[in-house]
Amino acid sequence: MSETSETTETTGTETANPPPPNAEDEIIRFDNLSKRFGDVTAVHPTSFSVRRGEFFALLGPSGCGKTTLLRMLSGFHAPSEGRIFIDGEDVTALPANRRPINMVFQSYAVFPHMSVGQNVAYGLKIARVPKDERARRVEEVLSLVQLNGMAERRPSQLSGGQQQRVALARALVMQPKVLLLDEPLSALDAKLREHMRGELVRLQKQVGITFIIVTHDQDEALSMADRVAVMNGGRLEQLAPPQTLYESPSSRFVADFIGRINFFAARVVAENGARVVASPVLGTLAPALTPPSAAEGEEVTVALRPEKIEVQASPPTGDDPRTRSLPGVIAEVSYYGDYCTVEVDLRGAEGSQRVTSFVPNAIRETGVQFSPGQEVWCAWWSSDILVIDEAAN
Ligand code: ATP
Repeated sequence: MSETSETTETTGTETANPPPPNAEDEIIRFDNLSKRFGDVTAVHPTSFSVRRGEFFALLGPSGCGKTTLLRMLSGFHAPSEGRIFIDGEDVTALPANRRPINMVFQSYAVFPHMSVGQNVAYGLKIARVPKDERARRVEEVLSLVQLNGMAERRPSQLSGGQQQRVALARALVMQPKVLLLDEPLSALDAKLREHMRGELVRLQKQVGITFIIVTHDQDEALSMADRVAVMNGGRLEQLAPPQTLYESPSSRFVADFIGRINFFAARVVAENGARVVASPVLGTLAPALTPPSAAEGEEVTVALRPEKIEVQASPPTGDDPRTRSLPGVIAEVSYYGDYCTVEVDLRGAEGSQRVTSFVPNAIRETGVQFSPGQEVWCAWWSSDILVIDEAAN
């Protein structure tokens, strides 16, 4: 993470998205929140809101500050500056146990010496909830997480996924306004993790509680969350729904962090009195792709996702003005079962560049076989080209 000066203030932007939530929509608001540990700035001043009832993800590489942000929200870290509002109430100075939120940790932290039912009832007992109501709520929540009939078991008699559900039940039974989940699936194996993603989404929609998940796994964030906040070096890079992050990343960092991507060098030039983006490999791009704020001579990043590049064994015949193609030679092919990655050395007008393309193995018998050394043509829709103006960020 970059330990840059405190004085730079980043509030992060929500791109291509509905306007910021109004006070009724928002359940959480971070207002210029920052955190320093000595001379390390874990979170630079950051402002954004989480909407009521949404499944929200904080995503970013290790050390980007997501856990620190979550800990400030839950009350385990005091912010260096800024304020936190939960449901309109300023909770910045409120101790953790008085905030209307609950947390599920990556190590499930269930009590091994207690039964499942006792584990789930524990918080209610501490809160002096009467016995009858306790029993009713425990039963309800166990059914919600599909652990009916397992109340008498010890955690050691459960699978990893079931233990995770106990941890979830224990948090949900307290009926928090917000549930925080810190890498909740990271201790599970790949298959179970995928299954639990679906379970968590189902559960969240069913209970209607706002979920905030912290993860460094982009698939997890993209597949579960309504909106994702991407963090980098203690700053919010972009906050948007998954599809916007993937199809319209606002920075090179986001484009690179989410999915695979090919980058091309490019610059804004004047052509026939208009500003256009020109790249040595891709040539001149459609005028509509020129970022409005980019000045002549400014460098911009041009990018194209691998699945948007179609590799063809013969030259394209159609002359659809909406598509572009370039010849190239295959450098490498890797087989992944459902698709292949095909690395192609593209030959542009003023330079060549290796690009990665995904070729789906869609048809068993007739799938085109590509091999290294083969002459091919790469085609794409002009509208799939992304132009990222870093200077605008
Ligand atoms: P990970 O995914 O690895 O948990 P993260 O995105 O959650 O990472 P944080 O744990 O929030 O990142 O840490 C952000 C930065 O703050 C890191 O550089 C970390 O070393 C630093 N940091 C976190 N906690 C402390 C602390 N108690 N004292 C000093 N530095 C800290």
